Order: sequence, then structure tokens, then C-alpha cells
Amino acid sequence: MNYRHAYHAGNHADVLKHVVLLAIVDALKRKDAPFCVIDTHAGRGQYLLQGEQSGATGEARAGIFRMFVLKGLPPVLQSYLKRVQADNPVGALVSYPGSPLLAAQAMRPQDRLVACELQPDEARALSLLFKDDKRVTVMARDGYAAIKALVPPKERRGLVLIDPPYEQQEDEFVPILQALKDGLERWPTGCFALWYPIKRGRTLQPFFRKAARLDCKSLLRVELLVRPDDSPLRLNGSGMLVVNPPWQLDQALGPALPVLARLLGEQQPNATLDWLKKDET
Ligand code: SAM
Repeated sequence: MNYRHAYHAGNHADVLKHVVLLAIVDALKRKDAPFCVIDTHAGRGQYLLQGEQSGATGEARAGIFRMFVLKGLPPVLQSYLKRVQADNPVGALVSYPGSPLLAAQAMRPQDRLVACELQPDEARALSLLFKDDKRVTVMARDGYAAIKALVPPKERRGLVLIDPPYEQQEDEFVPILQALKDGLERWPTGCFALWYPIKRGRTLQPFFRKAARLDCKSLLRVELLVRPDDSPLRLNGSGMLVVNPPWQLDQALGPALPVLARLLGEQQPNATLDWLKKDET
């Protein structure tokens, strides 16, 4: 599958993923010590919403376009919008920043980003985007293998974002769980955030049962459904599973989720946040 046509930049799933990503990065900035973000499936970093890269632009119309100019939203949404607006300085929404660009924009001079992308064309575009940013390293390599090689980062603080294309549907969870196990063995306190699509929700239960057995302190699940999760053919929603989330991430995201459901929902939308494992210490 040519991924570029399958990926609908700026849709509801991107909004959820990027809001959570930036909320984690903001939480990491509470301390002055540097941190490292490892983006295992980084993409090209920037997508034109009006052109070939937008896939079905309709998907972004039901996503970022519905919120781009809104004001007075909960802080995590406002801070996400500020980043998307920074990428569209003229005011019209023409370009959508991907995860590595959003992370790099939110990082400070002392922080670092390693972005892995397997597709040569996408990796080239990403390298070009960051050619003048010394904080960013782009690697044209397999993101799962990179986890084994790159964690723990020397900073011992940071985030691993895992955002695979799920070309293998639910079989993708096999390398994902292995990568999380490998990552946690090397970096038990590391924060790992995994994005997953929701078509028919109940098919995800075996994955959650296995994830709950991971050797980590805590596991937070954040989901946004824009319509009931009863059709295997449509992307009805998505989720972020955050392993070892930063302190109070749940509280930062909590007020934003019902707002997202209201703004992006189509039919019986629902947003939830729950703990698959909670640190009681
Ligand atoms: N994380 C990006 C964002 O939020 O803007 C979007 C990434 S997109 C969902 C997934 C990307 O993973 C695609 O660009 C694809 O080429 C790349 N990819 C697929 N398999 C990969 C692998 N094993 N390692 C690294 N990248 C991979």
C-alpha cells in the first residue's frame, strides 16, 4: 500500500494523537533538565491539506478544520492549536504539521528529537525539513528496531512515540508489544505513547489484556470515538495508550476530551480516559 494515500493528515485521529503528544511534551518541560523524544514512525513531518498529500481532504475537514480558529478551549487544545497555527502563519489552514514537527516546535534548545522513517521518500522530505535544526536527527530505519537501539536516551527523560501504519491490521500489535517489552526492559521508567485505530472496538480487547501485563508502573488509555465502533470498515475513532505517563497527564487531558468529542463527533461521539494500570505509590 502506498502509505501517502492512506494517511489522512489532520483527521480526528491525528488531532487526538497530536493533542496527547503535545500534552506529554509540555509536561516534560516542567523540569529544566533536557529530554529526548524518539518518534519511531515519523512520516514526512508536514502535509499539504490542499494537495496530493492530503489524501481525502474531507477527513481534515471533519478534523482540524473544525477547530482551527476556535478560542477559549481547554489549555491542551489551545496549545495544540497554537502549534498548528504557527505552521500556517498567513492564517489560512493549508499545511498540517506531523508529529516530529509538532514535537520539535514544542521542544526547547536543550531537548532532542530522533525521528525514524522507513520510506525513503518520506525520510528525505523529513531530513530536508530539519536540515537546519541541530536538535533533530532523522534516521531512515525501522522504528521498532530503533527502540532497542536508542533507549534509554542519554538524557534518561523523554518520550517514545509509536505511530505505526497498521498495514497488517491487528497483527501489527505483535511487533508493538515486543517493542514495548524491549523498551521497558531497557528503560523501565520511560514514557511510551502508542497510537491505535479503532474500527470495531472489541477486537482490541486481547491487545489491552496483553498490554496490562507489561512490566510498567502505569498505563493510561485515552480514546476518542467520533461514531459508534461497530463497523470494521471505517476509522470510527482512535486511542493513545500511554505507558508511564507524566504526572497529572490525565488531569490535563480530562477537560479537553469531552470538548474534542463535541467538536469532532459525528454520531454518538464518546471520549474516555481510564487506567489499565495505576501507580498507587
Ligand atoms: N507519526 C506521524 C505523524 O503523526 O505525523 C505519522 C506517521 S504515519 C501514521 C506512519 C509512517 O510510518 C509512514 O510514514 C510510514 O512510511 C512509516 N513506516 C511504516 N513502517 C515503518 C517502520 N517499520 N519503521 C519506521 N517507519 C515506518
